[in-house]
Amino acid sequence: MVHLIVNCTLILFGLAIQCGALIPARRIIEELPESRNRQFWRILKVMIYLFILGYAGYGVLSLNPATPPSYVVSVIFFAGALFVLLVCYLAQQTVEDVRHIARLEQENITDALTGLYNRRHLDSVLKRELGRSKRYALTLSLIMLDIDHFKAVNDTHGHDAGDEVLRAMGRIIRDNARDTDIAARYGGEEMTLILPSSDNKAAMLLAERLREVIENYKFSAGDLNLDCTVILGVATMNDDIQDAASFLQAADRALYQAKEEGRNRVVSADAVD
Ligand code: GH3
Ligand code: MG
Ligand code: MG
Repeated sequence: MVHLIVNCTLILFGLAIQCGALIPARRIIEELPESRNRQFWRILKVMIYLFILGYAGYGVLSLNPATPPSYVVSVIFFAGALFVLLVCYLAQQTVEDVRHIARLEQENITDALTGLYNRRHLDSVLKRELGRSKRYALTLSLIMLDIDHFKAVNDTHGHDAGDEVLRAMGRIIRDNARDTDIAARYGGEEMTLILPSSDNKAAMLLAERLREVIENYKFSAGDLNLDCTVILGVATMNDDIQDAASFLQAADRALYQAKEEGRNRVVSADAVD
Protein backbone atom coordinates (compact mmCIF):
# COMPACT_ATOMS: atom_id res chain seq x y z
CA MET A 1 0.00 0.00 0.00
CA VAL A 2 2.80 2.43 1.01
CA HIS A 3 4.55 1.45 -2.19
CA LEU A 4 1.45 2.44 -4.21
CA ILE A 5 1.00 5.77 -2.37
CA VAL A 6 4.67 6.77 -2.85
CA ASN A 7 4.57 5.87 -6.55
CA CYS A 8 1.27 7.68 -7.18
CA THR A 9 2.56 10.77 -5.31
CA LEU A 10 5.71 10.81 -7.47
CA ILE A 11 3.64 10.50 -10.63
CA LEU A 12 1.16 13.19 -9.54
CA PHE A 13 3.95 15.62 -8.60
CA GLY A 14 5.69 14.85 -11.88
CA LEU A 15 2.43 15.60 -13.70
CA ALA A 16 2.04 18.92 -11.84
CA ILE A 17 5.66 19.88 -12.57
CA GLN A 18 5.19 19.12 -16.28
CA CYS A 19 2.09 21.38 -16.26
CA GLY A 20 4.18 24.06 -14.47
CA ALA A 21 6.85 23.83 -17.19
CA LEU A 22 4.22 24.92 -19.71
CA ILE A 23 4.17 28.43 -18.14
CA PRO A 24 7.80 29.43 -18.93
CA ALA A 25 7.56 27.58 -22.27
CA ARG A 26 4.49 29.64 -23.23
CA ARG A 27 6.21 32.91 -22.13
CA ILE A 28 9.28 32.12 -24.21
CA ILE A 29 7.10 31.47 -27.28
CA GLU A 30 5.31 34.81 -26.70
CA GLU A 31 8.56 36.75 -26.32
CA LEU A 32 10.51 35.26 -29.21
CA PRO A 33 10.11 36.76 -32.69
CA GLU A 34 8.74 34.46 -35.38
CA SER A 35 11.75 32.25 -36.14
CA ARG A 36 13.02 28.67 -36.33
CA ASN A 37 13.86 28.97 -32.65
CA ARG A 38 10.22 29.77 -31.89
CA GLN A 39 9.07 26.77 -33.96
CA PHE A 40 11.33 24.50 -31.90
CA TRP A 41 9.83 25.89 -28.71
CA ARG A 42 6.35 25.12 -30.09
CA ILE A 43 7.46 21.55 -30.76
CA LEU A 44 8.85 21.36 -27.22
CA LYS A 45 5.49 22.56 -25.85
CA VAL A 46 3.67 19.83 -27.77
CA MET A 47 6.15 17.32 -26.33
CA ILE A 48 5.38 18.55 -22.80
CA TYR A 49 1.66 17.94 -23.52
CA LEU A 50 2.54 14.40 -24.69
CA PHE A 51 4.53 13.86 -21.49
CA ILE A 52 1.53 15.03 -19.46
CA LEU A 53 -0.67 12.51 -21.30
CA GLY A 54 1.95 9.80 -20.69
CA TYR A 55 2.15 10.62 -16.98
CA ALA A 56 -1.64 10.60 -16.64
CA GLY A 57 -1.88 7.31 -18.57
CA TYR A 58 0.79 5.67 -16.43
CA GLY A 59 -0.91 7.05 -13.30
CA VAL A 60 -4.25 5.44 -14.28
CA LEU A 61 -2.54 2.14 -15.17
CA SER A 62 -0.69 2.08 -11.87
CA LEU A 63 -4.00 2.17 -9.97
CA ASN A 64 -4.76 -1.26 -11.42
CA PRO A 65 -3.57 -3.90 -8.90
CA ALA A 66 -2.75 -6.19 -11.84
CA THR A 67 -0.07 -3.73 -13.07
CA PRO A 68 1.63 -2.42 -9.92
CA PRO A 69 3.78 0.67 -10.57
CA SER A 70 7.53 0.35 -10.47
CA TYR A 71 9.60 2.65 -8.25
CA VAL A 72 12.23 2.97 -10.94
CA VAL A 73 9.74 4.24 -13.54
CA SER A 74 8.06 6.65 -11.10
CA VAL A 75 11.39 8.11 -9.98
CA ILE A 76 12.50 8.52 -13.62
CA PHE A 77 9.16 10.21 -14.43
CA PHE A 78 9.59 12.56 -11.48
CA ALA A 79 13.22 13.40 -12.30
CA GLY A 80 12.30 13.87 -15.98
CA ALA A 81 9.57 16.35 -15.03
CA LEU A 82 12.02 18.31 -12.85
CA PHE A 83 14.50 18.36 -15.71
CA VAL A 84 11.92 19.72 -18.19
CA LEU A 85 10.81 22.41 -15.70
CA LEU A 86 14.41 23.45 -15.03
CA VAL A 87 15.26 23.68 -18.74
CA CYS A 88 12.16 25.81 -19.49
CA TYR A 89 12.75 28.06 -16.47
CA LEU A 90 16.43 28.61 -17.27
CA ALA A 91 15.63 29.31 -20.93
CA GLN A 92 13.04 31.92 -19.90
CA GLN A 93 15.54 33.55 -17.52
CA THR A 94 18.12 33.60 -20.32
CA VAL A 95 15.66 35.29 -22.70
CA GLU A 96 14.92 37.96 -20.05
CA ASP A 97 18.63 38.48 -19.27
CA VAL A 98 19.54 38.87 -22.94
CA ARG A 99 16.70 41.37 -23.40
CA HIS A 100 17.83 43.30 -20.30
CA ILE A 101 21.45 43.41 -21.51
CA ALA A 102 20.34 44.58 -24.97
CA ARG A 103 18.27 47.39 -23.39
CA LEU A 104 21.19 48.47 -21.18
CA GLU A 105 23.54 48.44 -24.16
CA GLN A 106 21.08 50.57 -26.15
CA GLU A 107 20.68 53.04 -23.25
CA ASN A 108 24.45 53.22 -22.90
CA ILE A 109 24.83 54.60 -26.42
CA THR A 110 21.66 56.72 -26.59
CA ASP A 111 21.08 60.33 -25.60
CA ALA A 112 17.99 60.20 -23.36
CA LEU A 113 16.54 63.57 -24.45
CA THR A 114 16.77 63.42 -28.23
CA GLY A 115 16.83 59.64 -28.74
CA LEU A 116 19.90 60.11 -30.98
CA TYR A 117 23.18 58.33 -30.27
CA ASN A 118 25.38 59.95 -27.63
CA ARG A 119 28.85 61.44 -27.99
CA ARG A 120 30.64 58.27 -26.86
CA HIS A 121 28.96 56.22 -29.55
CA LEU A 122 29.55 58.96 -32.15
CA ASP A 123 33.29 58.84 -31.44
CA SER A 124 33.53 55.08 -31.83
CA VAL A 125 31.30 54.95 -34.94
CA LEU A 126 33.22 57.79 -36.58
CA LYS A 127 36.51 55.99 -35.98
CA ARG A 128 35.06 52.75 -37.37
CA GLU A 129 33.52 54.45 -40.45
CA LEU A 130 36.74 56.36 -41.20
CA GLY A 131 38.75 53.13 -41.12
CA ARG A 132 36.19 51.29 -43.26
CA SER A 133 35.92 54.11 -45.81
CA LYS A 134 39.70 54.39 -46.18
CA ARG A 135 40.15 50.62 -46.49
CA TYR A 136 37.52 50.25 -49.21
CA ALA A 137 38.12 53.67 -50.84
CA LEU A 138 34.58 54.85 -50.07
CA THR A 139 33.43 58.41 -49.56
CA LEU A 140 32.37 59.58 -46.11
CA SER A 141 30.77 62.87 -45.07
CA LEU A 142 29.90 64.51 -41.79
CA ILE A 143 27.31 67.17 -40.98
CA MET A 144 27.57 69.20 -37.80
CA LEU A 145 24.44 71.16 -36.80
CA ASP A 146 24.09 73.94 -34.24
CA ILE A 147 20.82 75.63 -33.25
CA ASP A 148 20.91 79.41 -33.69
CA HIS A 149 20.49 81.46 -30.50
CA PHE A 150 19.31 78.44 -28.56
CA LYS A 151 20.15 80.03 -25.23
CA ALA A 152 17.51 82.66 -25.99
CA VAL A 153 14.85 79.89 -26.33
CA ASN A 154 15.69 78.72 -22.81
CA ASP A 155 15.90 82.24 -21.42
CA THR A 156 12.62 83.41 -23.03
CA HIS A 157 10.42 80.28 -22.87
CA GLY A 158 12.05 78.15 -20.19
CA HIS A 159 14.23 75.07 -20.10
CA ASP A 160 11.30 72.70 -20.82
CA ALA A 161 10.57 74.53 -24.07
CA GLY A 162 14.27 74.22 -24.92
CA ASP A 163 14.12 70.48 -24.22
CA GLU A 164 11.06 70.15 -26.47
CA VAL A 165 12.92 71.89 -29.31
CA LEU A 166 15.89 69.51 -28.86
CA ARG A 167 13.55 66.48 -28.95
CA ALA A 168 11.84 67.71 -32.13
CA MET A 169 15.22 68.47 -33.69
CA GLY A 170 16.28 64.86 -33.03
CA ARG A 171 13.08 63.61 -34.72
CA ILE A 172 13.59 65.87 -37.77
CA ILE A 173 17.17 64.69 -38.22
CA ARG A 174 16.17 61.00 -37.91
CA ASP A 175 13.22 61.44 -40.31
CA ASN A 176 15.38 63.05 -42.98
CA ALA A 177 18.40 60.77 -42.73
CA ARG A 178 18.83 57.37 -44.37
CA ASP A 179 18.78 54.20 -42.27
CA THR A 180 22.51 53.85 -42.82
CA ASP A 181 23.28 57.40 -41.59
CA ILE A 182 24.28 57.75 -37.95
CA ALA A 183 22.76 60.68 -36.05
CA ALA A 184 24.19 61.70 -32.69
CA ARG A 185 23.94 64.51 -30.17
CA TYR A 186 27.41 66.01 -30.11
CA GLY A 187 26.84 68.27 -27.11
CA GLY A 188 24.25 70.74 -25.74
CA GLU A 189 22.45 72.01 -28.88
CA GLU A 190 24.86 70.53 -31.40
CA MET A 191 24.08 67.42 -33.39
CA THR A 192 26.03 65.37 -35.88
CA LEU A 193 25.20 63.14 -38.80
CA ILE A 194 27.72 60.64 -40.17
CA LEU A 195 26.91 59.87 -43.81
CA PRO A 196 28.62 56.68 -45.04
CA SER A 197 29.11 56.43 -48.82
CA SER A 198 28.07 60.08 -49.31
CA ASP A 199 30.15 62.57 -51.26
CA ASN A 200 30.21 66.31 -50.56
CA LYS A 201 27.42 67.05 -53.04
CA ALA A 202 25.01 64.55 -51.46
CA ALA A 203 25.90 65.75 -47.96
CA MET A 204 25.36 69.41 -48.95
CA LEU A 205 21.95 68.51 -50.42
CA LEU A 206 20.89 66.78 -47.22
CA ALA A 207 22.22 69.64 -45.07
CA GLU A 208 20.30 72.18 -47.18
CA ARG A 209 17.13 70.06 -46.92
CA LEU A 210 17.51 69.90 -43.14
CA ARG A 211 18.07 73.65 -42.94
CA GLU A 212 14.91 74.28 -44.95
CA VAL A 213 12.74 71.78 -43.06
CA ILE A 214 13.85 73.25 -39.71
CA GLU A 215 13.32 76.84 -40.90
CA ASN A 216 9.70 76.02 -41.84
CA TYR A 217 8.95 73.78 -38.84
CA LYS A 218 6.68 75.02 -36.07
CA PHE A 219 8.30 73.81 -32.87
CA SER A 220 5.65 73.44 -30.20
CA ALA A 221 6.36 73.77 -26.51
CA GLY A 222 3.16 73.77 -24.45
CA ASP A 223 0.87 76.34 -26.06
CA LEU A 224 3.76 78.03 -27.84
CA ASN A 225 4.77 77.75 -31.46
CA LEU A 226 8.44 78.56 -31.90
CA ASP A 227 10.53 79.20 -34.97
CA CYS A 228 14.12 77.97 -34.99
CA THR A 229 16.94 78.04 -37.47
CA VAL A 230 20.22 76.15 -37.58
CA ILE A 231 23.66 76.38 -39.08
CA LEU A 232 25.22 73.30 -40.65
CA GLY A 233 28.88 72.56 -41.36
CA VAL A 234 29.63 69.83 -43.90
CA ALA A 235 32.94 67.99 -44.19
CA THR A 236 33.89 65.19 -46.57
CA MET A 237 36.80 62.81 -46.06
CA ASN A 238 39.97 63.74 -47.96
CA ASP A 239 43.72 63.16 -47.66
CA ASP A 240 44.08 65.88 -44.99
CA ILE A 241 41.63 64.11 -42.72
CA GLN A 242 43.61 61.45 -40.90
CA ASP A 243 41.46 60.80 -37.86
CA ALA A 244 38.07 61.46 -36.23
CA ALA A 245 39.34 64.59 -34.45
CA SER A 246 40.47 66.30 -37.70
CA PHE A 247 37.20 65.30 -39.39
CA LEU A 248 35.15 66.88 -36.59
CA GLN A 249 37.43 69.95 -36.63
CA ALA A 250 36.82 70.41 -40.37
CA ALA A 251 33.03 70.32 -39.86
CA ASP A 252 33.37 72.62 -36.87
CA ARG A 253 35.36 75.17 -38.90
CA ALA A 254 32.59 75.18 -41.51
CA LEU A 255 30.06 75.66 -38.72
CA TYR A 256 32.00 78.63 -37.38
CA GLN A 257 32.10 80.15 -40.85
CA ALA A 258 28.30 79.70 -41.17
CA LYS A 259 27.87 81.53 -37.87
CA GLU A 260 30.17 84.32 -39.03
CA GLU A 261 28.18 84.69 -42.25
CA GLY A 262 24.97 85.30 -40.30
CA ARG A 263 23.37 81.93 -39.32
CA ASN A 264 20.54 79.87 -40.91
CA ARG A 265 22.90 78.55 -43.57
CA VAL A 266 25.00 75.60 -44.75
CA VAL A 267 28.76 75.86 -45.30
CA SER A 268 31.06 73.18 -46.68
CA ALA A 269 34.53 72.75 -45.16
CA ASP A 270 35.81 72.76 -48.77
CA ALA A 271 34.78 76.44 -48.98
CA VAL A 272 36.64 77.42 -45.80
CA ASP A 273 40.28 78.56 -46.21
P1 GH3 B 1 24.74 80.54 -31.06
O1 GH3 B 1 23.63 81.03 -31.93
O2 GH3 B 1 25.96 81.37 -31.12
O3 GH3 B 1 25.02 79.07 -31.28
O4 GH3 B 1 24.23 80.69 -29.55
P2 GH3 B 1 23.45 79.65 -28.73
O5 GH3 B 1 22.64 80.37 -27.71
O6 GH3 B 1 22.74 78.70 -29.60
O7 GH3 B 1 24.63 78.80 -28.06
P3 GH3 B 1 25.27 78.87 -26.64
O8 GH3 B 1 26.46 77.97 -26.69
O9 GH3 B 1 25.50 80.28 -26.21
O10 GH3 B 1 24.19 78.24 -25.67
C1 GH3 B 1 23.81 76.93 -25.77
C2 GH3 B 1 22.67 76.75 -24.81
O11 GH3 B 1 22.18 75.42 -24.88
C3 GH3 B 1 23.05 76.99 -23.37
C4 GH3 B 1 22.52 75.78 -22.62
O12 GH3 B 1 21.80 76.15 -21.49
C5 GH3 B 1 21.60 75.14 -23.63
N1 GH3 B 1 21.50 73.71 -23.43
C6 GH3 B 1 22.48 72.78 -23.50
N2 GH3 B 1 21.96 71.55 -23.26
C7 GH3 B 1 20.65 71.71 -23.04
C8 GH3 B 1 19.58 70.81 -22.72
O13 GH3 B 1 19.74 69.59 -22.62
N3 GH3 B 1 18.33 71.33 -22.59
C9 GH3 B 1 18.10 72.68 -22.71
N4 GH3 B 1 16.85 73.13 -22.57
N5 GH3 B 1 19.09 73.54 -22.98
C10 GH3 B 1 20.35 73.08 -23.14
MG1 MG C 1 26.70 75.61 -29.85
MG1 MG D 1 23.77 77.51 -31.06
